[in-house]
This record gives sequence, structure tokens and C-alpha cells, in this order.
Amino acid sequence: MIPTADCLLPIADSLLPMERAIVYLVGAGPGDPGLLTLRGKECIAAADFILYDQLVSPRVLEHARPGAELVCVTELGPTHPERCPHIAERLIAEARDGKKCVVRLKGGDPLVFGRGGEEADALRQAGIPYAIVPGVTAALAAAAYLEVPLTHREHASAVAFVTGHEDPTKPESRIDWQALAAFPGTLVIYMGIARLGTIVAELIQHGKDSNTPAAAVQKASTGEQRSVTATLATLDETVRRTGLSAPALVLIGPVVGLKPALSWFESHPLLGRRVLVTRPRHQAAPLVEQLEHLGAVPVLLPVVEVRDPPDWSRVDAALDDVRVGRFDWLVFTSANGVQAFFKRLRQRGWDSRRLSSIQIAAIGPATAAALRELQLEPDVAPVDGMNSERLADELFEHVRNRRVLLAHADRGRELLQERLAAVATVEPVAVYVQADALDSTAPAFDQLRRGEIDIITLTSPNIARAFLNSCDEIIFKRLERGEVKVVTNSARASAVLRERGLPVAKESAEPTIDGLVAAITAV
Ligand code: SAH
Repeated sequence: MIPTADCLLPIADSLLPMERAIVYLVGAGPGDPGLLTLRGKECIAAADFILYDQLVSPRVLEHARPGAELVCVTELGPTHPERCPHIAERLIAEARDGKKCVVRLKGGDPLVFGRGGEEADALRQAGIPYAIVPGVTAALAAAAYLEVPLTHREHASAVAFVTGHEDPTKPESRIDWQALAAFPGTLVIYMGIARLGTIVAELIQHGKDSNTPAAAVQKASTGEQRSVTATLATLDETVRRTGLSAPALVLIGPVVGLKPALSWFESHPLLGRRVLVTRPRHQAAPLVEQLEHLGAVPVLLPVVEVRDPPDWSRVDAALDDVRVGRFDWLVFTSANGVQAFFKRLRQRGWDSRRLSSIQIAAIGPATAAALRELQLEPDVAPVDGMNSERLADELFEHVRNRRVLLAHADRGRELLQERLAAVATVEPVAVYVQADALDSTAPAFDQLRRGEIDIITLTSPNIARAFLNSCDEIIFKRLERGEVKVVTNSARASAVLRERGLPVAKESAEPTIDGLVAAITAV
């Protein structure tokens, strides 16, 4: 549990008699959404209001609860360098406005070049209770993802975090470059890419060995990570030549010489590959997470979304029939169907004991997994594939002369129903609706047009059809020429492309996330 205002700063009680709001200054980590702390995640999930920095990954914001108000600092008006008062004022205003839990979400760690100290100060002065949740600062992420140990028994016993934002040649610079040139350890320079030439010149001029190993890394810990290594003397030229840009860090010191040619992270098979994920938003997470683990950059473009049926009367009637034992078999054709069916069951105040005498079938592994999440073991579930033909074959003898409830989508395929109806009484009921969700103004379409997407995943015939219908000629041509590769998870989804004369780069061997990821990796 996150601490509430009750157990924090007891003196603040007297300052805030009317409202027990609390503000959390939370470090969101360096980019990889998996590097958020557990406490940070709890705070975000509890927040009524979140004020976040531009550098914060949108994936971290996904932990916010529906209904929470999310505001980016850039929306507060003029930013740098006078933005701090605006930010603190807004936090105080939200806390006083009755928001119980206010989160100020900052890239990396709030107290490392994040002005977290100033914001905390303002909150203290205003008598607002607050707490600070540290985050993984960019330097630590860069070290881990580049495999550069910041300290090392033989090479560095100290580390300095330095801001490169100030102009080193200006007299008012507070950075003592002479001392840093003599610093006996690793230098990590934040915000230094724009002034790299002057920074390097300053260090060399003050006596730092120009052959000292040095590296720069952009967007460390994300699929867009890029890095270069050089010496202090050649770093600026190398950075300019390769076009590395902010946000980036510079690391200087003998430890940089220990970096392997390709770090563990840079060896990921999908590093930097942009993969379009077209699954419904609420189902995209498992694929997105796996892609991120392999270094890819997932781009979300939900094509369909799952909704409740416009009215529940048919589903309710079927549930009543299940209750009185009118059905022998309950057949699910998707994980969505399982979730929708049981959601309605619970809404009616029932639970799975209502199904105690019914046999259950699942069309494939993902549907079976959704049932197992509910502690239900399907009686029939083809293990190595998901298609209506297979399920019909397996069920045929079981359902002879039986009554079957087929819980499927409104756009469900007729085949299973037709096949089973030859031997059984089949009642299809649409437990959820698949609605088009494509937003033709989504930035992903521009990325597709510009050739910035490497791979498109299409995970059902419906999704494939709806996606192709919304592609303009430029995107179509790219698909036709194989400039953007298409990966599908079934022969039926592939058929939709081939009917339009479009190539399929890879079809996954099994219709699971693992199968799809293996296919993406093999492209
Ligand atoms: N509070 C943040 C730093 C904010 S200053 C932290 O603790 O990390 C912003 C600077 O941090 C950027 O200009 C860049 O120099 C650095 N930075 C932040 N995230 C980075 C990343 N993923 N890769 C490289 N540098 C990063």
C-alpha cells in the first residue's frame, strides 16, 4: 500500500485541516517502462491527477486508472527555464482542489537534474504533504544497457553526474571544468549533446587526456537506443557524423573502454525495429511487452475494439438456460468471448458454480488460457492451432445429439456453427461486439507513409481486412513492394492479404503471442 497523508508528515495535518491530499514526486525511470519502481507504479495507479514530463514513456502512463486527469508539463504554457513555479503552483492548486492523490511524474529520478528539490520546497512551504519516490536515473540505465560499469575496482572509484546544459565558456557557469578534468573517476554528462564540442575542448584544455575512452548514448534503455564510442578527442565529430541527438548522455572515463562491441541490450534481435501492433488496445500489452523485451519499438494502432453487446437480453436468456441445465456444451471461440461471458455472469451475481454440469470447449491455446485464469479446465481444446475446422473435428463426436451454446463475437465465423449443427442443437449467442476502432488521423499512418514502420502484425482476418481498407495508395505500394513486412498469425489472415495481391513475409506457426513474436523475429 502506498502511504496516505495520514501516515506522512504529521505536522502537515495542522496545516491542512480541510483536505488530506498528498503529492508524490515520482521518478518514472529512463525510458524502458519496466524500470519504473513498484512504489512508483502504485502511486500512478492511485493518482487522481498526474502532471508528467515530456520524457516520460506513454507506457508508464498506462498504469493510471481510467478517469485520472493526465497533463503534460508542456500544456502549462511557457516552459524552460521559468517553468518550475508554474509546475509547483499547479500541484498545489490540484492538492487544494480536493484531489486526494496528486502525482508529479518526472523522467529518470526526480532529484537528478529534475528540479524535484525546488518542487518539494514549494509544497513544503504551502503545507502540502508530499513524498518522493526515486527512479532509475538515465546514467544508471545507460551504464546497464551499454554495459559500461560506472565504477570499477581498477578503473574508477568515483562517478560524477554533470549537467552540460550550461555554456562552459560563459563566466557565470557554475561548473568547475578544471576540477572535472582532474576528477579521478567516470564523468556522466546529462544534457550535453548540444554543447559537446565546447565541453570536450574545455576538459582537454584543463588537462584531461584526449585519448580517454568516451561514449554517447541516445534514448538509453528504449528500442530507439543508439550509441557511439570514441575517444574524448573524437567524440564530438563522431556524434555529429552519426547524427546522435537529444535526449542523450555522454560517458567519459577508462570504464567506457570496457564496453563490449555490442552490449547485451544492443544484441537484441529486434533492436530499433518498429512494429505496428493492431490488436485491440486492452489486449495489446502482452505482445507490446514481449516486443519491448526484444528491443523493438511497438507502435500501437488498434484496428478493432471489443465492446459489450448493445443489449444483454440474448446473453441473459442463454445464462438462464445454462442455469437450468439446458445446455450440455459451452463452446468459446476466443479469449474475448470467455472474458465477456464471465463478466456478464458476475454482473448477474453468479459465479462459475453455475457451470458445474456443463462441458466446456475452447478453440485454441489462448482461449484455453483465458479459461484457466478462471480456474476452469476446458474439456476440449486443440493444443497446436486455433481454427474452427479443427475444433469442429474434435467436438463432432462429443456433441452428437447434445445441446451446444456457442459463445462468440457478433462477427463470428459461421463455419463452426454449421458443422456442429449437422449433429447437435447449436445456439449461437454474441457475447461481445467487434467495432471498428481505426483512427485514420493516427500518427502511425504518417509513419507508415514515411516508411518508418518495419513490420505490421495482423492477427485476425477482420483486423487484416479493416486495416487494408484504411490504407491509402502510398501505404499500399509499400506493402506491395514488401518495403514494410507483414506478419500474420493464421492462414486465414494471410489469405486476406493474398487476395489483394499483397505479400506476407511470415505467418506464425501457431496463433499465440509467442508464435507471432517468433515469426516477427524470423522476418
Ligand atoms: N531526471 C532525469 C534527468 C532529466 S534532465 C534523470 O534522472 O534521468 C534530461 C536529460 O537526461 C536529457 O537531456 C538527457 O541528457 C538525459 N536523459 C534522460 N533520459 C535519457 C535516456 N533514456 N537516454 C539518454 N539520456 C537520457
